[in-house]
Amino acid sequence: MHWIPAYVALGSNLDRPEVQVETALAHIAGIPRTRRVLHSGFYASAPMGPADQPEFVNAVAGLLTQLPPRELLEQFKRIEREMGRTPPPMRWGPRRIDLDLLLYDALQIEEPGLTVPHAGIHERNFVLYPLADIAPAIVIPGRGPVGELARQLGSGGLKPIARATGRR
Ligand code: ADP
Ligand code: MG
Repeated sequence: MHWIPAYVALGSNLDRPEVQVETALAHIAGIPRTRRVLHSGFYASAPMGPADQPEFVNAVAGLLTQLPPRELLEQFKRIEREMGRTPPPMRWGPRRIDLDLLLYDALQIEEPGLTVPHAGIHERNFVLYPLADIAPAIVIPGRGPVGELARQLGSGGLKPIARATGRR
């Protein structure tokens, strides 16, 4: 078995979002047959969709894994459940934690319940900027290099969060 690079997006806008993202990072570090190699800084972002909800905190983590993509997604869903995520009241509504599988190696997957690269990745600056922090040269299969996509989109509505620990 070998180690496959994968990237996960973390997002929260409920119940002290920075703490939720920090907690999710710790859970991700405990996924079986998986190593959390590094993570981006945290970003505050304007909510997508309904605007009358709190700002989001977003980050991206880079993993090496021996799990197949579906099993990795199941682990993310387990963590969302264990962290007490309840179904958002509406599409793109507020949530305590959201873990999305952004990239799995250079695979393109289109199956019921699993789309990789994650849908919309190329048009969400709150995903592209943190991803570019940790993997500036990575190519989004079917879309292009992350840095270029980020530049095209611009950083509107996105603010790096200065954090006490500065840990990356
Ligand atoms: P969203 O993240 O789009 O706001 P959810 O987190 O509720 O919404 O996810 C809805 C469904 O999206 C999940 O049940 C999951 O099966 C599906 N899905 C498809 N591809 C992915 C992916 N790459 N990462 C995470 N979820 C995915
Ligand atoms: Mg999700």
